[in-house]
Amino acid sequence: MSRLTVLLSFLLWPLIAFGQSEEEDIFVEANILGIFYHELGHAVIDIEQLPIFAQEEDAADVFSIYLIDTLYEEESALALAYEASLGFLAEADLREQAAEEVAWWDTHGPDEQRFFNTVCIFYGASPETREDFATDMGLPEERSEYCPDEFWQADDSWGYTLDEMIERGSGETLVFKAPDESLTSEILTHEVAQLNNEMQLREPLEITVESCGQANAFYDPQEVKVIFCTEFEGHLRDLFRSLE
Ligand SMILES: [Zn+2]
Repeated sequence: MSRLTVLLSFLLWPLIAFGQSEEEDIFVEANILGIFYHELGHAVIDIEQLPIFAQEEDAADVFSIYLIDTLYEEESALALAYEASLGFLAEADLREQAAEEVAWWDTHGPDEQRFFNTVCIFYGASPETREDFATDMGLPEERSEYCPDEFWQADDSWGYTLDEMIERGSGETLVFKAPDESLTSEILTHEVAQLNNEMQLREPLEITVESCGQANAFYDPQEVKVIFCTEFEGHLRDLFRSLE
């Protein structure tokens, strides 16, 4: 793994108070980052022309938690991993409360499975130091024994690509357009600057925050663009409140 010039820190950010509590803002900020990294995973697969041997959605989830483990110092990485994993559980709870069935046909795995996959990769990256994390998240031993191997598989595939991106040095290939005054824009402005400082993609990638009529974020391969819907932030706040 190529060394980054600095490991990022999440908790040391001057937190911007937008919501009802600090805990809520931490949850929302962590999940905006986790989702952004997932979409960035789709963009990297497309731009770097990576072969994918299973569901691309699963690969993008792995990229997201792999990036959290790689880019951040331990305390921040742990905080992000807790909140982003809980985001999947909250989605599952919300669906259960609404008595919605699991959409087995969906390209995304069921939220409970995305939760355990995320927890497993993060735990597997450092099982000696992340035992408490695995226990807190209820990761059963039947799964946890395979997690170090699952992490090394992720490291073998994503690590190589990330190394190449880092070896290109700093640049301006992530282009954040038309940020508004939202928390999402604040976070992505900060994040895009940090990533540009450390790496480059083969082609520029545009990132926008715009209203789409639904709480979503996606990568558009035709436009080579990540769109983060303004509606997502409110949805994340609802999710946090559903956890209480
Ligand atoms: Zn996706």
